[in-house]
Amino acid sequence: MPAPPLNGAIIEILYGGICGTDLHLQKGRLPIPPVVLGHEGLGRINRLHPSLNTDAKGTQIKSGDIVMWASSISCGHCEACSIEREPTLCDHRKIYGVNRNTATDEPLSGAWADFICLQSGTTIVKIPEGIDKILAMALACAGPTMVHAFQRRPVQLGETVIVQGAGPVGLAAAAMAKLAGARQLILVGAPASRLQLASECGIADVCVDIFGRPIDAALSEIMSYTPNFKGADLVIECTGAPDAVSQGVNLARRGGLSSRRSVHR
Ligand SMILES: [Zn+2]
Ligand SMILES: [Zn+2]
Repeated sequence: MPAPPLNGAIIEILYGGICGTDLHLQKGRLPIPPVVLGHEGLGRINRLHPSLNTDAKGTQIKSGDIVMWASSISCGHCEACSIEREPTLCDHRKIYGVNRNTATDEPLSGAWADFICLQSGTTIVKIPEGIDKILAMALACAGPTMVHAFQRRPVQLGETVIVQGAGPVGLAAAAMAKLAGARQLILVGAPASRLQLASECGIADVCVDIFGRPIDAALSEIMSYTPNFKGADLVIECTGAPDAVSQGVNLARRGGLSSRRSVHR
């Protein structure tokens, strides 16, 4: 077991999540070096470097505490970091479980393992006692993804919001949009069981199951739920399906906004 690096920590992994990104890695859609997979994780602090005693929010942390951590560390110097202020688009971003080469980097760098070595600059967050660890893990990637999206374009009170996609990111988008005061949340996706659950949880006012349907009929139905059939104030794409991007543009009202969260190219 290595000693914790300066400003870093050794964490005993309790949970490692499987994310859509892992499936892209598996299918060879993203470059992958020799790596310990797992960029979503939750664990117990095993050892802290003496220089590290608070988490990213300033809360005291110590050995034995339960923590989660952001998967990536941006460089702070490239154009994306320093000029565009988009650290998630950093050219030199180091991501646990994705691009930390075990041959050239600290080998304990993924959450699908017994331990991970968190480096200086990692955003560590202490999980308060009483929080269900599985529920926290459900937001490991989806939570930060949507917090970032809503920082860029917050939901305004009373807006109509369409969320395309009922995966973890889509469900997080729906929940946060409702909490932020969306008047009407239209959740579009599949499977029906997940839409039903979203409805029961109160994070979707209307659900549109698009599975196996002609897309034109589904889009017409979605529009029929928007005020005066004119489209939504905000459309959030969380599907990963390229066709959803153009569909989302057409679901936004004139002057509304269509936001891409899952399709990167
Ligand atoms: Zn992820
Ligand atoms: Zn950078």
